[in-house]
Amino acid sequence: MVRRPIIIALAATILALGGYVGWRLRSSTTPPLPLVRSATAGAPESLPPGARQPVAPGDRHAPPLPQIANQIPQVRTFEFTSNGFIEVAHALILVRKADSGMDRILQIAQSSARQAFAARPSLAEVDVSVYRAEDYAGFGGPSPLFTASVPSSRLAEFLAVTAASAGDYDRLWVNPAEPLPPQRHATGETHLGVPEAPPTFAGSPSEVQMQQRLQLQHQRRGPSPGSAVYFHGPPNNRVVALTFDDAVHPMYAPLLLDVLRRGGTQATFFIIGRNAEAYPYFVRDLARGGHEIGNHTYHHVRLTNLPEAVVRDEIQRTNTLIEDLTGRRARYFRPPGGEYSPLVLTVAQSLGMVTAFWTDDPGDFNNPGGTVLETRTLAHLRPGGIVLLHDSAPETIGILAEFLRDARARGFHLTTLDNQGRK
Ligand SMILES: [Zn+2]
Repeated sequence: MVRRPIIIALAATILALGGYVGWRLRSSTTPPLPLVRSATAGAPESLPPGARQPVAPGDRHAPPLPQIANQIPQVRTFEFTSNGFIEVAHALILVRKADSGMDRILQIAQSSARQAFAARPSLAEVDVSVYRAEDYAGFGGPSPLFTASVPSSRLAEFLAVTAASAGDYDRLWVNPAEPLPPQRHATGETHLGVPEAPPTFAGSPSEVQMQQRLQLQHQRRGPSPGSAVYFHGPPNNRVVALTFDDAVHPMYAPLLLDVLRRGGTQATFFIIGRNAEAYPYFVRDLARGGHEIGNHTYHHVRLTNLPEAVVRDEIQRTNTLIEDLTGRRARYFRPPGGEYSPLVLTVAQSLGMVTAFWTDDPGDFNNPGGTVLETRTLAHLRPGGIVLLHDSAPETIGILAEFLRDARARGFHLTTLDNQGRK
């Protein structure tokens, strides 16, 4: 009888050791960090300076709501999708110049929303984006003329909006610039499927090595206070930053917000200024949900080799927008494509920003399939890690709830970059 406590203690020790060894084994199989590479050593696809970096999710489309497309000739596509909990629909409407008065646009938007809810009463929200047909060039092309988001509970209110009272409905945006201003380096929307990994530095070989040293230093000790770059969070506890690039997308934003709310998780969203401008209500929704808003430039362009004034303008314009919409200053900046240079770092720092990269890029950009995506994302989890996902990748929406659950079960706390730095 005397021996029983000893046996119990021994068993507990063996179990604890087993757990430790298991954890070490799992840790040792975590893939190595993708080191910063040199821009001259060759990015797989090198876009010219200022070219628009393609946004996720490539050319993947959600299923259509065909009933609507047949009834309203201006509707180009009416897609709907779900995150497993709620369903939303998104209408892309193209109007000719002669047909683009505010009264007319509103009428088309209202009948689209009404018919969508009638055709599919399970929808939680319908988004309408109206573009000018003559210059429409995809999600990354010239901005829409009008956007609105209609939660099912607010349909009646939306249907009662008139051109004179449009300002009273807070989930509606009218492009104030008429005619539309020319886009910076507009080359039309491209879907090259270029993944955003690893970060690429346009500098001399010794400058690239310096960035890699800094990256490895962050991996061992975490970034030092006041650092202009953030490659890795503090590695001493199981806190992981969850980040989404290319926000906000009108169809996926409500789904993502819903999954994160259900999972009790806050994340950092790197927003593209032009998208935030056209969909201000989603940026406000993000801020209200406790998420952090980061800066991903105004036009989502490659910044290396652009003049300083242009780099500054891309970051500054987006900062102003974020502050106007949320009342808070953005702290983190992420360059599109992960491409940066000494100048990009200097400009971001002079604007009071920290340039933030990632440790884990599971490649949701390329739609690898939900199972592959979740396996990769879980396999890459590490203390102090920074997960890079895209807010507009449908497969990410599909696996997110399960990923949040599995990460938690492994003892990881997912949060914003800002919170991670404080832990
Ligand atoms: Zn991006």
